[in-house]
Amino acid sequence: MVGSRLAGIQIKCWTVFCLGLLACAAPRAASAADCPGHPDAIGTSRTLVVDPREHPRIGAMQYPQTLPLRDHEVVLTFDDGPLPRNSNQVLQILADQCVKATFFIIGQQALASPEGVRKYVAAGHSIGSHSQHHPLTFNKMSAEQAKQEIDAGIASTTAALSDPAQLAPFFRIPGLLRAEPVEEYVASQGLQLWSADFLADDWRHISPSRVYDLAIKRIEARGKGILLLHDIQARTVAALPKILHELKARGYHIVHVVPATPQQPATPTEPEQWLSHPSSAAVAALNWPKVPNFVFAEAAALPAPALSDFDSPDGTLLLSAEPFDRAKRHGVPVPREAPWPRAVALPPENTVATLPVPAASLFALPDKAAALLQPPAPGSHHAEQTAPAAHAMEGEARSSAASGAVKVTSPAREATTDRTAGSRTRIGHGARRTRHFAHGARHSVRVASLKKR
Ligand SMILES: [Zn+2]
Repeated sequence: MVGSRLAGIQIKCWTVFCLGLLACAAPRAASAADCPGHPDAIGTSRTLVVDPREHPRIGAMQYPQTLPLRDHEVVLTFDDGPLPRNSNQVLQILADQCVKATFFIIGQQALASPEGVRKYVAAGHSIGSHSQHHPLTFNKMSAEQAKQEIDAGIASTTAALSDPAQLAPFFRIPGLLRAEPVEEYVASQGLQLWSADFLADDWRHISPSRVYDLAIKRIEARGKGILLLHDIQARTVAALPKILHELKARGYHIVHVVPATPQQPATPTEPEQWLSHPSSAAVAALNWPKVPNFVFAEAAALPAPALSDFDSPDGTLLLSAEPFDRAKRHGVPVPREAPWPRAVALPPENTVATLPVPAASLFALPDKAAALLQPPAPGSHHAEQTAPAAHAMEGEARSSAASGAVKVTSPAREATTDRTAGSRTRIGHGARRTRHFAHGARHSVRVASLKKR
């Protein structure tokens, strides 16, 4: 791939290129239906028109964006030609299948075989550039060296064409050895930088069947995308018919990519469609039916609601600024009643002002239970007394429980009084006896409680 250098030839302005496209007929997409003599051809399902300036770098292998292909759509690309011996065979295979592809041409190859370049164009394929000498040092070379390689390759290819506009503003870095200065320069020239979505390793020393296997396997793994092949390789010539046949058998479609022109604007797409690795949310958004825009297409604003929308009996808005202007009662405006819902006044006959007083019998308790439940009076043990423990107190305890209150016996009252007074000297014999009794009664109650359990 050593050829003469055309360092002096540079195309500086893609405006000239684009203007040239004005006179260039838009490529026509072929399909299996119009592939005469080849009923089994896979054909070209559609033409995708892209704007390089909107999407300057594509290819999932290296960039976050790639071509907005649908599922089971494949774009075929061939690098390094033309090399007539093999390139012509590739062109024949594609013609037999009515397939349109994109060829990335090496400048020195174009100089060596300008007729080969013209054959690509005559067959309706897209052609891009691939540097002048195909150096595998684009990731190392200076920006100036890269610029010279890119510009020379374009000039050499254009020199083979009757119309410079026949060269699409597509560029692929040799060996995909990307570098930021190169990418920036390519973008500054309005060129679309093409990487790829998958390879078939057809430049390696592998068999055609291996090329076929890799191509199908990688296409299937991703489901769609840009396949990079080399039309200068004999193994690719051998593998290509089988690849195309298999793609058709598996339901794939071939898409032809062309650059946008004033006559042929870019195919409408959604930004998510260009994502090399769309998120699950983006995929869902793409698959979800779009909200139709016909509702807003011809109206700047929504129509004002009609009065009838409010279902007012006389067509008057309920939120009128003068709600009291109609009915008057005794000369005083009466608020208008809303037609619905109405405030319903419940009849009062089923309600009473207060709840009935509960009968005293509701609180009646057996004598013993009442005695147990009585809280002890401060400083007194009389509430603990039970019949077995205090025969002398039995009558009083029973009567106390019945009345809901504990009557303290006089000896206990003495003791209580004396204790709260804090004077032990005033405790008499009776009081001291009562304390002993009370202590014994408490003990008896506890024993009785344990026995009940
Ligand atoms: Zn190459």
